[in-house]
Amino acid sequence: MASDADSDTALWWLRRDCRLHDNPALVAAAAADRLLPVYVFDPTRYGTVEYGGANSFAYEKTGGHRTRFRIESVADLRDRLRDRGSDLVVRTGDPASVLPALADRVGADVVHVDARPAPEERTAEKRVEAALDAPLDRRWGHTLYHPDDLPNGVSGIDDTYTPFRKSVESSASIRAPAAVPELPARPSAVDAGEIPDAAALGVDTSPVDDRAAVAFEGGETAALDRLDEYLWETDSLRAYKQTRNGLLGRDYSSKFSAWLNEGCLSPRRVSAAIDEYEKRRVANDSTYWLRFELVWRDFFQFQVAKHGATMFTPGGIRRREVAWQDDPEAFERWTRGETGLPFVDAGMRELNATGYLSNRARQNVASFLANDLRIDWRRGAAYFETRLVDYDPASNYGNWAYIAGVGNDSRNRSFDVLWQAHRYDPDAEYVRRWVPELDGLAAETAHEPWTLPDDERARLEYPEPMIDPETQYGDDA
Ligand SMILES: Cc1cc2nc3c(=O)[nH]c(=O)nc-3n(C[C@H](O)[C@H](O)[C@H](O)COP(=O)(O)OP(=O)(O)OC[C@H]3O[C@@H](n4cnc5c(N)ncnc54)[C@H](O)[C@@H]3O)c2cc1C
Repeated sequence: MASDADSDTALWWLRRDCRLHDNPALVAAAAADRLLPVYVFDPTRYGTVEYGGANSFAYEKTGGHRTRFRIESVADLRDRLRDRGSDLVVRTGDPASVLPALADRVGADVVHVDARPAPEERTAEKRVEAALDAPLDRRWGHTLYHPDDLPNGVSGIDDTYTPFRKSVESSASIRAPAAVPELPARPSAVDAGEIPDAAALGVDTSPVDDRAAVAFEGGETAALDRLDEYLWETDSLRAYKQTRNGLLGRDYSSKFSAWLNEGCLSPRRVSAAIDEYEKRRVANDSTYWLRFELVWRDFFQFQVAKHGATMFTPGGIRRREVAWQDDPEAFERWTRGETGLPFVDAGMRELNATGYLSNRARQNVASFLANDLRIDWRRGAAYFETRLVDYDPASNYGNWAYIAGVGNDSRNRSFDVLWQAHRYDPDAEYVRRWVPELDGLAAETAHEPWTLPDDERARLEYPEPMIDPETQYGDDA
């Protein structure tokens, strides 16, 4: 990475770091006399793409939920820059053409960008770097711990979570979040440009379902509001450890993920807010646990930095040989939430309608696809990539691989979906919310409609289970 530039004109290329607070790329860029902030919508990131390598398949790269959230995030950033006398230049096109042209136009001496570890984002950086006359200055800013502060560096991190967590907890510290710098003047020669709508990117968006846990609104403004709400207004952090396995409602978990992943919220800012909360309100297992989860997020970021494209292969970093099934019809039933397993179907329908899913539901729907149906876990992960409002390559593919048994843990991660359903949705409230065909059934039968007498089952208009629950989950099923 380059040292702080004392250049006159800098271009700041924004990607998934749509914020002014605690943004190392911006801090470096703001040292220039003139600064051109630029966001580029790359149309190839929105249509149908090919998942390359072994057994390749096609899928939609970015679906409606995330596209809407991203557009809102960019619009909010533009407003915040304008409030400070600057602006955000927005273009639609190939970053490797758009950015060098803009850099030439303003005579940029340097281009600053938020460094990212995932292979596609690295490739995008390299293409832009190769096309630029000016140097590309990469700044790492999206994790709790900075890679330079890891006790054994990125290449030395452990491949299982607990030793990684213990090493950072004992031997690394979290840097203080950076303040918003004074913004240099924007070169006037460049027109600000229009923010495209989803349709212009070829993406369908539908209104947010009113059953959604949270109507995620993109942008730094909404992110900081949510931080405030979760910690200070509702005081929900106090009981996070007890509520985090919830399935319904706004506050059982923080819902920070979408803002963290689009870069509207810095994890160090969250950590500093937890510190403050611990001083002013309470320090308990819940305050510890929220940071513990952010360390999971770090873990997957550094795993991708360490293992690169191997994390996205069928056998994962353990290079396991698994005979994954190719069953398009079964896969489609899973995507539509018509597997006949109510707990799985509720999750898939919530995901489709809202772009969000609790961690508990993610684990169950993923395990059903990868461990019960034995369908290639990457297809499931790619489906999540399309649908999730909070998609991140490292968190998504890392968690999927972990559950499919090809990731960072050698233990069997197969879930007994039926046991999980009764344990985490004892009154079947979640299932009935998302699978209205089962409304009116008692909790026990809502989770196991196949146990109803034939005539009642026929009236339900709900599919028979794709698997035999008794064989799959044992005698208790
Ligand atoms: C199959 C599968 C796919 C997933 N895909 C993603 C994804 O694409 N993007 C994503 O952010 N999370 C993903 N997760 C992790 C987790 O489910 C979400 O981060 C969490 O549900 C988001 O809700 P929250 O912000 O309320 O979480 P909280 O419980 O409030 O946690 C706080 C933050 O900690 C981080 N975090 C929590 N759990 C995890 C975890 N297991 N792995 C990584 N980070 C974690 C997130 O940044 C989260 O916002 C996935 C989990 C599974 C099982």
